[in-house]
Amino acid sequence: MPKYLVPISELLYLCSINNKQAMKQQLIKCTNCGRPIDPKKIKWLELSITDGCYYTVLPSSHLSQGSFSFGTDCAISELKRTLKSIRQA
Ligand SMILES: [Zn+2]
Repeated sequence: MPKYLVPISELLYLCSINNKQAMKQQLIKCTNCGRPIDPKKIKWLELSITDGCYYTVLPSSHLSQGSFSFGTDCAISELKRTLKSIRQA
């Protein structure tokens, strides 16, 4: 089973593990809606240049455009969109 086909809750846990680093910075905004995010709740998603979708763990064949910060709700909707596009592929 590919790494990204796991429950959303698990994906959200995975994309929170960089937060110790983020807490040193003052204000981080959500890439999607632009609202400031509580540093403890930031979710980091990696954008694939290959298909334009955000991933918790980029598929090995994809090229990365870097990691972007999201609030929980926006991270969930991006991950759902990614899962939907994977199913349609
Ligand atoms: Zn947002």
